[in-house]
Amino acid sequence: MTNEEKVEAVKKWQECEFVHQFVCGADGCDGVLVPEINKGLNGGVYLLCPKCSYSQDHIPDMVYYFDFEHLSNLMSVIGVVQKAKAEEDDRINEALSEIYAPNTPIDDDKHQ
Ligand SMILES: [Zn+2]
Repeated sequence: MTNEEKVEAVKKWQECEFVHQFVCGADGCDGVLVPEINKGLNGGVYLLCPKCSYSQDHIPDMVYYFDFEHLSNLMSVIGVVQKAKAEEDDRINEALSEIYAPNTPIDDDKHQ
């Protein structure tokens, strides 16, 4: 994998809404780290905080081999299931409110 490919992989990771972003490790800084190519002697990719210049050499290998497409497909399926469940819950709550307590709102805490 070239450094440029690694940079692309880290960017994908940082933009993915389903994984934990790499954020700055410096006290009180919440900067989102960006990948940079080290042009120095050893080369390689590292993470840099754009807010405070904190840098981190270690990038877990899984970032480079992560199957974003698979995760994205999985999350769409979960989204469809959650939406269907929410609609089902609405229908059940509506039916219950008509049967047991007309004009009385259902307590949401008891119907998760
Ligand atoms: Zn920082």
